[in-house]
Amino acid sequence: MVESTAVHIYYSDHHAVPLPPGHRFPMGKYARLRARLVDDAVVPAAWLAPAPLASRDELERVHDADYVAAVIDGRLDERAQRRIGLTWSPAMVTRSLASVGGTLAAARAALRDGLAGNLAGGTHHAHRGFGSGFCVWNDLAVTARWLLAERGVRRVLILDLDVHQGDGTATIFADEPRVFTCSMHGARNFPFHKATSDLDVELPDGADDALVLARLDETLAAVAERFSPDVVLYQAGVDALAADKLGRLGMSAAGLAERDRRVLGHFRSRGLPVVLTLGGGYGDPIDLTIDAHLGTYRVAREFA
Ligand SMILES: [Zn+2]
Repeated sequence: MVESTAVHIYYSDHHAVPLPPGHRFPMGKYARLRARLVDDAVVPAAWLAPAPLASRDELERVHDADYVAAVIDGRLDERAQRRIGLTWSPAMVTRSLASVGGTLAAARAALRDGLAGNLAGGTHHAHRGFGSGFCVWNDLAVTARWLLAERGVRRVLILDLDVHQGDGTATIFADEPRVFTCSMHGARNFPFHKATSDLDVELPDGADDALVLARLDETLAAVAERFSPDVVLYQAGVDALAADKLGRLGMSAAGLAERDRRVLGHFRSRGLPVVLTLGGGYGDPIDLTIDAHLGTYRVAREFA
């Protein structure tokens, strides 16, 4: 029997962040996703490990030192917390460090194994000097910088298929030719003032599987013409699901799985390491979102 390679998957949900009842951020989704990955036998339990915490030095490759210190030391003012959409707590700091550390660890594993994932991260609305939209620090940007600085990687592609534009990532790397930022997102969704990625693809409200998958094929071809990455960081948000409260699009779970299959097929057939991160997903009920995230890992297993 041929053993498949483990897809190492890092989690942060054991750092429970207290939120008031009815808060829009689906904190519970992360622990339930991890439990169902194992309970539904989507992946072997041995593939899962707690995310290490990112270091201050790693964060400061991207973020302003005073912003990093303000979060860690609990000096974020009211306005900064409102912009993030989360109330500061010591647990929020630890979980945010783990969320970045999980993508760093997954990148380390993907360089070795070809594919790895973080059950958090994808926090693409975090900018250099402030957080926004439930994003404290930008794990994608910190990991891209780490790959360039520490691992001799020459070019990183950040492919962001969350329904919301990866505005923080785009802004952070606006003047960095070694990082190509590509965001496919809802034209009419948050953020309402879009940044400029290296490639932005806008989708109309209600876009269904057929439309999104056709746009995806064009997008992968367009990226291939312009950029030849050594590593791919893939933000696999599932808020394009029709049942999503914030998404405005109309994809099915099967369509999202096919999206992930095309992305992984495209890059893994070229031998490129791919790092999976989570992203948005605000389904009603939240189990529909969890099913969609599980779909990403069912597909990942096809490539293990
Ligand atoms: Zn989103």
